[in-house]
Amino acid sequence: MQATKDKVIIVDYTLKDGEGTVIDQSSDGNFAYLHGANNIIPGLESALEGKAAGDAVSVVIAPADGYGERDPEQVQNVPRNAFPDDVEIQPGMQFQAQSPDGNMVHVVVAEVEAESVTIDANHPLAGVTLHFDVNVVEVRDASSEELEHGHVHGPDGHEH
Ligand code: ZN
Repeated sequence: MQATKDKVIIVDYTLKDGEGTVIDQSSDGNFAYLHGANNIIPGLESALEGKAAGDAVSVVIAPADGYGERDPEQVQNVPRNAFPDDVEIQPGMQFQAQSPDGNMVHVVVAEVEAESVTIDANHPLAGVTLHFDVNVVEVRDASSEELEHGHVHGPDGHEH
């Protein structure tokens, strides 16, 4: 069976940056996703199109097909008093914040000054060229419930 739209694909993967540093890998053996449902970044999904169990895929993905380019407008200066007084704000701290349109965004503290804090809401992998080594473990049909939900259920997928 081949990886096409509406199939469940189970893979092992290692993700490295351009220097060969491991950024991420499928930690407990396998990672499952629903093909064609935007569960994973577009560059990886297209690299896996048509693959079958046992196939190995090495692919280099530019930021545009990965987590996007870094957007300078996602870097903002906010007043120090926007944060709780009892928390010591330090560069590298990460937290969830609500954007003006009501979405939850993940932000990282970039810089701390006396009266202001610079936060960066870019994805940590924005602007990074991604080097994936992927082994296809299994390709199976998705259940009707998985198709309805748009994600994989079960031990390697989504838990309800
Ligand atoms: Zn579900």
